[in-house]
Amino acid sequence: MKVIIVGGVAGGASCAARLRRLDEKAEILMVERGPYVSYANCGLPYHVGGVIEKESSLLVATEATFRGQFAVDCRTRCEVVGISPKKKTVELKNHATGEATTEKYDKLVLSPGAAPIRPPLPGIDLPGIFSVRTVPDAREIREWIERGSSDSTGEHAASGFQPLDKTKRAVVVGGGYIGLEMAENLVHRGLEVTLVEMLDQVMAPLDPECARLVERHLEKHGVRLALNDAVAGFKQTEGGSLEVLTKSGKAHPANIVILAIGVRPETGLAKMAGLEIGQRGGIRVDEHMRTSDPDIFAVGDAVEVKDFVTGEWSLIPLAGPANRQGRIAADVIAGRDSRFRGTQGTSVIGVFGATVATTGANEKLLNRLGQKDFEKVYLFPNSHAGYYPGAKTIVLKVIFRKSEGRLLGAQALGQDGVEKRIDALAMAIQMGATVYDLEEAELCYAPPFGSAKDPVNFAGMVPADVLRGDMPLCHWDAVEGGFLLDVRNPPELAVEHVAGVVNIPLPDLRARLGELPRDREIHVICRSAQRAYYATRILLQNGFKARNISGGMLSRSMLVTERN
Ligand SMILES: Cc1cc2nc3c(=O)[nH]c(=O)nc-3n(C[C@H](O)[C@H](O)[C@H](O)COP(=O)(O)OP(=O)(O)OC[C@H]3O[C@@H](n4cnc5c(N)ncnc54)[C@H](O)[C@@H]3O)c2cc1C
Repeated sequence: MKVIIVGGVAGGASCAARLRRLDEKAEILMVERGPYVSYANCGLPYHVGGVIEKESSLLVATEATFRGQFAVDCRTRCEVVGISPKKKTVELKNHATGEATTEKYDKLVLSPGAAPIRPPLPGIDLPGIFSVRTVPDAREIREWIERGSSDSTGEHAASGFQPLDKTKRAVVVGGGYIGLEMAENLVHRGLEVTLVEMLDQVMAPLDPECARLVERHLEKHGVRLALNDAVAGFKQTEGGSLEVLTKSGKAHPANIVILAIGVRPETGLAKMAGLEIGQRGGIRVDEHMRTSDPDIFAVGDAVEVKDFVTGEWSLIPLAGPANRQGRIAADVIAGRDSRFRGTQGTSVIGVFGATVATTGANEKLLNRLGQKDFEKVYLFPNSHAGYYPGAKTIVLKVIFRKSEGRLLGAQALGQDGVEKRIDALAMAIQMGATVYDLEEAELCYAPPFGSAKDPVNFAGMVPADVLRGDMPLCHWDAVEGGFLLDVRNPPELAVEHVAGVVNIPLPDLRARLGELPRDREIHVICRSAQRAYYATRILLQNGFKARNISGGMLSRSMLVTERN
């Protein structure tokens, strides 16, 4: 059996290595257009920033590794330029020699990835405007930055980097993961960074109130944000630098521009082969990663996949799914019945010391799909036991089905232990777990690492309290008309309080129940909703109608604070 794999990075390389492990006899040809296979594109922003110093560190496996270790005929600088499904052949063009050849296949695997979007805006091809996809892209960006340097002395010279002139400015277009990572790394390199984003928030997978925390953090670290403003074009100034022009009429000066406005599945070959393309513009595959042609498989950023939570077709350009899909395609080619379960967009980013992670559906998406059967809670647990030094607050938003408690999605932000909680919740979502399962989750605990009731347990206990009716819930956007009871201590209210609240500190509540109305719904407030929960229980058991405002004053600061 001869298998040809198009693309030699995440999906393609995984497929080749797995197939060899399953089938010693298969003839495997892996064709890569660029100069490297199996490189760490996820590490590119950190190489630009100097965190990963050596370019060679990005090369996870080489052509020689594939030839030697895996007996894979691995050809770099070689592009598949045509497919004939009828003849089961591909046309190859060797960019090093110019030679064109034809190869026959029994099975073909497409893992061509996705191309950075470069809209046809005026000036988009000016020098100094870069996308970040490949090792050569990162090299060019570094060279461009270093060329502009005027100072190569001192500690910077010792680090191997030429620092940037203090006046150097970068504009990053796009506030997604790559845009944020690039912004952070350019700041590390001494650039003044402006981030222009068309949406009114960064990080589209987050709901806006969570994204707002990321925005404040970026601003705190010197990144200027220009949200809700699309780029209209680029101009070169007389001095040779650039200006990024936006629809609102602003001109952001820049010595370098990074385009990170998303990626588009590379479907040219698939279209040429007459393969079915899905509604989101990716190659349509079944759960075995088989395209509409039974002998052609497709994996990675180029395919569209079913969202595990919503059942909608979606494009999720992430390395984890690409690797798993490559493995599944290899399994199926080798005769195994492996299936891709779908994706839920589990992702994480580190930005200026903060960690932001998410999995599953967000509230925006569920609203867009017209779904009503869901509820959310905001939690602010400690990363580990509060009495052990160094505990940090995690902001956690959990979304679940009201009718049966199934976990739908979660978003978390903080400095420590964020991604481990999201990873646990991601696994729970994939297993179809409910919030009742999270209540029972047995997780490792010692004071430096967690709490006997871990944030993951809380992500089950609080929603389960809501679903069992033990803790009726409300949110800040629905408190109008209710009686507002704040159970914090007076000094806390002196710092910040909501107009019109009645303050009865929790320890006094039982003695002062006579001051509360029995004919109105009481909305209970505290800092994080924990004391308000205790108060809600007291009130309910004394015959009052009471609701806990989810997340208390902490969620209010996320929800109602306007941007500067
Ligand atoms: C800067 C950056 C940072 C990222 N960070 C993260 C991260 O932190 N976490 C995460 O989960 N994901 C991250 N990703 C996304 C992740 O890298 C991709 O989802 C993953 O690499 C997709 O794998 P793939 O095999 O589909 O495509 P790729 O890994 O892009 O590989 C496709 C390869 O196919 C080659 N090719 C295309 N057409 C042809 C052809 N006709 N002939 C021969 N070769 C061809 C291309 O040259 C390319 O090398 C990042 C991506 C980038 C660019």
